[in-house]
Amino acid sequence: MSRLIKISEINDIFPEYRNTPIEKLLKYHNLGFPHENHSKAELLVGMCMDNRKQLNIPNNFSYILRTGGGNLRYSEFKVSYAVAIGGVKALALIGHNNCGMVNLMSKKQSFINGLVENAGWTAEKAEEHFMNFALMFEIENEIDFLLSESKRLRKKYPKILIAPLFYKVEDNLLYLIEE
Ligand SMILES: [Zn+2]
Repeated sequence: MSRLIKISEINDIFPEYRNTPIEKLLKYHNLGFPHENHSKAELLVGMCMDNRKQLNIPNNFSYILRTGGGNLRYSEFKVSYAVAIGGVKALALIGHNNCGMVNLMSKKQSFINGLVENAGWTAEKAEEHFMNFALMFEIENEIDFLLSESKRLRKKYPKILIAPLFYKVEDNLLYLIEE
């Protein structure tokens, strides 16, 4: 069982994240530390596109990739770019509760109707589109997905520090996950 760890003070941050960009992210976003000047990016954040979430971080501190569910499987060239050219050494993978990518299949009809009404698609085209992509983005459970995606990325980028974090939409705070 994984457990969410609330970060209310510096001592709550796991030792493996001390003095890393992950600690800085938690200090800025959760603990209200004043924004420092950053001359270059130190971090890559991968997070869901969901409109309820916004990070409190200074300009220039981080690259941010936003995707459905924070799923980076189809954004790897951009991850590689941030690592190779941007020089970032850490990746914060941020999932959140109440994610729209959970149980995506149950939203099939609303998705089709929405594309027909809002974008002018035919129902056939909309259904084909949904069926082509829904399984690529569907998530069964936010935390399990976050942990398996972190594991996958750690294998792929072994020298990069990868931290799975959980964003609670009720309090807009980041939580660490006891893996
Ligand atoms: Zn989401």
